[in-house]
Amino acid sequence: MNKKFAIAIHGGAGTILKSTMTKEKEDQYVSALKEAINIGYKILEDGGTSLDAVEEAVVSLEDCPLFNAGKGSVFTHNGIHEMDASIMDGRNIDAGAVSLIKNIKNPVRLARKIMEKSEHVILAGDGAEEFARQFNIEFADKKYFYSEFRYDQLQKALQSDSIFLDHTELDHKFGTVGAVALDQMGNLAASTSTGGMTNKKWGRIGDTPIIGAGTYANNETCAISCTGSGEYFIRTMTAFHVHSLMKYGNYNLDIAIRKVIHEILPSIGGDGGLIAIDNNGNVVMDFNTEGMYRAWKKGGENGNETENESVLIY
Ligand code: ASP
Repeated sequence: MNKKFAIAIHGGAGTILKSTMTKEKEDQYVSALKEAINIGYKILEDGGTSLDAVEEAVVSLEDCPLFNAGKGSVFTHNGIHEMDASIMDGRNIDAGAVSLIKNIKNPVRLARKIMEKSEHVILAGDGAEEFARQFNIEFADKKYFYSEFRYDQLQKALQSDSIFLDHTELDHKFGTVGAVALDQMGNLAASTSTGGMTNKKWGRIGDTPIIGAGTYANNETCAISCTGSGEYFIRTMTAFHVHSLMKYGNYNLDIAIRKVIHEILPSIGGDGGLIAIDNNGNVVMDFNTEGMYRAWKKGGENGNETENESVLIY
C-alpha cells in the first residue's frame, strides 16, 4: 500500500445559492472540479510531488473559463486583466508569487519559476513578464482572456461604481482557484491564482500573491489556500494565522481553521473560505459564505477510509 497522500482544491467562495443554480451550471462546475482534482491526484498516486500536483491542478482551473483565474479572469476598471498567483513548498518554506500580470496564460507557472529560478519571492507587472520571457513561459493575448460575460460584469460594476468579488454577485459566482496537497514523501504544497476583483483600480493587489495571507505551506503544520475579500485576509494574515495556531498554540487543523474563519475574519468584516491539508493528510475546507466550490481526494493508506473523494458546492 502506498503512503498516504491527498489533494484538495477550490474554485472560490461566495454567494453560491442552490436556489439560483441550474442543474446544467452545477454539472459544469462539478466536472471542472473533478477534472482538476484528478489531474493532481494522478500525479500524487504515481509518486510525484505535491508541488507538481498543486501546480497542475491550478493550471487546469486557470484554463477553465468558469473560474476567476487565468482564462476566466475578471476585468479591471480600465478594461484589462491583472492577475495574481502564488505557490509555496512546505519542505523548505520556499515561495514564489506574481502580481498584476497581464499576458501570462498560466500565472501559477510563472510563480513557480520565480520560486525556483530567482532569488526573489514576488515579481510584479512588466518586470515579471520580462522574467517570464527568459524562461519561455507561455504568453496569451487580450483576446484569450476576453469573454462577453466578464465584460458585461465590468459594465455592471462601472454603472454601480462598485468593486466586487466575482462570486458576490447573485447571478454569477465564479472565483479564485487554489490547491493544497500532501505527497507520498510527506511534503506539503499550496497554490492560489486569481484575476482579483471586477472593476479593481490603482494596481490593487489582493491576498493571493501575499505569502501568509492567501497561501501558506509548511511541512511542520499544514498547507493552505484562501479565497474571499482579500484585504481582510491580508490584515489577518489568514493562512499564516492557521499555521501559527497549530505550531505555537497546539491547535489541530480543524479547530485552528474554525477560529480563523468563524471568529477572527468576521470580527473585522471579512468573508470567504479556505482549503487546507495537514501533514497527516487531514483535509479541512471551511467558509463563512453561502458556498465554496471545492473538492478533495485521498489515496494510499488514506484511501482505506469509507469515503475517499468528494466534490461540493454549497
Ligand atoms: N481573494 C481574492 C482577492 O481578493 C479574490 C477571491 O478570492 O475571489 O483578490
